[in-house]
Amino acid sequence: MQHQTEPATGGCICGGVRYAVARRDKLRQVVACHCEQCRRFSGHYVAASGTRHRYFSLLNDETLQWYTYMPDVYQGFCGRCGCSLFFDYPQQERISILAGTLDDSSALHEVVHIYTREAGCYYHLPPDVEQVEDGAFSLPCPA
Ligand SMILES: [Zn+2]
Ligand SMILES: [Zn+2]
Repeated sequence: MQHQTEPATGGCICGGVRYAVARRDKLRQVVACHCEQCRRFSGHYVAASGTRHRYFSLLNDETLQWYTYMPDVYQGFCGRCGCSLFFDYPQQERISILAGTLDDSSALHEVVHIYTREAGCYYHLPPDVEQVEDGAFSLPCPA
């Protein structure tokens, strides 16, 4: 496990998208979202960390594409290998990072599952993690 003051890095399968977060302790803990959009974006449900824009940088955005379906939310994915990577919220100065794209997620754990009323029918929610039926939960990114 790397030291908490070192950068966290991650990217897609093909390497066309690579990113860094300036310090590992600027990553938010993981929120799992079961809303319909997250299920479709990820093919299952989204487990996302995140950080403030000021700690985030793209090391390679060669194949990065953005799609938006609602105001102020942009989904970032790799146009070559198909990886789902980000939800960007430009007005909120934060970006969600799909935890599975981090090179090392050893300091992170799931703290809540949200939009559980929209969860898929084929899997079980973990009983030992907080569950919220809708989006009424907020976990700020570290300042
Ligand atoms: Zn890729
Ligand atoms: Zn969602």
